[in-house]
Amino acid sequence: MIVMKFGGTSVEDSAAIERAADIVFARLEQRPVVVVSAMAGVTDSLLAMSQAAASGSLPQAMELLRRVRQRHLEVLSALIRGADEASVRERIHALAAALQDVLRGVATLGELSPRTTDTILSTGELLSSGIVSAAFQSRGIPSVLVDSRHCIVTDATHTRAVPLFDETSNRLRCDVETLLQANQVPVMGGFIAATAEGVVTTLGRGGSDFSAAIIGAALNAKRIEIWTDVEGMMTTDPRLCPQARRIEMIGFDEASELAYFGAKVLHPATLIPAVEKNIPVHVLNSRKPKSKGTCIRSGAPRSRTVFRAIAAKKGMQVINVKSPRMLMAQGFLRALFDVFAQHDCAADLVSTSEVSVSVALDSSRNGGALLHDLKRLGEVEVEAGKAIICLVGKHIRGRVGVAAKVFQTIADGGINVHMISQGASEINISFVVEESDVLEAVQRLHRCFFEAECVGEPREAGAGLQVPSLASHLGARPEVG
Ligand code: ASP
Ligand code: MG
Repeated sequence: MIVMKFGGTSVEDSAAIERAADIVFARLEQRPVVVVSAMAGVTDSLLAMSQAAASGSLPQAMELLRRVRQRHLEVLSALIRGADEASVRERIHALAAALQDVLRGVATLGELSPRTTDTILSTGELLSSGIVSAAFQSRGIPSVLVDSRHCIVTDATHTRAVPLFDETSNRLRCDVETLLQANQVPVMGGFIAATAEGVVTTLGRGGSDFSAAIIGAALNAKRIEIWTDVEGMMTTDPRLCPQARRIEMIGFDEASELAYFGAKVLHPATLIPAVEKNIPVHVLNSRKPKSKGTCIRSGAPRSRTVFRAIAAKKGMQVINVKSPRMLMAQGFLRALFDVFAQHDCAADLVSTSEVSVSVALDSSRNGGALLHDLKRLGEVEVEAGKAIICLVGKHIRGRVGVAAKVFQTIADGGINVHMISQGASEINISFVVEESDVLEAVQRLHRCFFEAECVGEPREAGAGLQVPSLASHLGARPEVG
């Protein structure tokens, strides 16, 4: 069997759902399970209406709800007619009515708990999956709507619940595998789940990819397909650099680094269940179903370029903690990271010296309380408006001169580097620059490491290097198509 996940833009309107139906139809023999997101923008609207209700603007919440309901009804009637339409229409009205009740409750109490947020957000995938399943049926696909709240079991960490794999696998084998054996096509909402007691949970924003990977892992899928609106993973963000190219194949570890450092295509946790079961994940474009996309798998062959890709993450800050007295004292780093943990802040990059520690993290995490607690440990300085640039490639390991070339390229652009990190696993080189330098830095690095003129640049023969030299590597044709 295979899992086919369609993201928000791939089910955003009737034309998109028709394209998805054609794509699934062409793969019926591979026994697909279909996972869908909410229609593009719906989760954001649901969030906005919940916040409007909580802050006392019930009429605004109701207006947003009316628009969401209307949009779904219009998509439905463009796709299906007759009795089938009537039953889905009823479902849409019922889900909207239930949502209205919840929003009224939120407005009355003036309080929005994570648990209630999950109930509200789950409406998006419940709506889309019902429409998609019915549309598939009317186009000759033997689809059956499966309620993800009965199959994906999580703990009660609302808004970012953690799946309980054993129980989930059991239920999926029971409910979904049986349908596959009967040659039916299960259609499920991604992102949504429930606790063992049946309380609705969600897997975190962008969590439909994660749902697809969980289902794929539980049912031993041959492949997981993530259908989206881009060509696949790219060598860098095409908005920053029009020369960016599609990556044909990439390792799991490399793709996780990229997802983490700003590549928007995949949810960072998506890959974990797939990695554990060694299931290849294909990122594909639902607008161009013939295009080959990107295959993410273990043991991806060595790229012909030094790096697989360059990612950039803006909106970062660097927090420096200086403590000449304490840094070398035992337990200082532990105390420091305890503070970050207590404030639920994950550090993206860390670098230490004798007298200071620099931590790069998302600017949105700059709580006054965090800084207050850090100040107990030493002198604290915050530099905002920064960005992390991350070059990812598993095969930089053991290669001489790569870092020199990266930083020479950056220096040639007159760009100042604020912080540098390269882990011992040597899968990425990351550094911090001013946000305003990102465009120049990414374009220079892409030109140097991915674009033909420079990639083929001859280098002097290395002086008896034991490792494959940068020159021989750079001489090869770029990997991407
Ligand atoms: N609809 C959810 C979101 O927008 C989940 C997803 O699309 O993956 O975050
Ligand atoms: Mg997504």
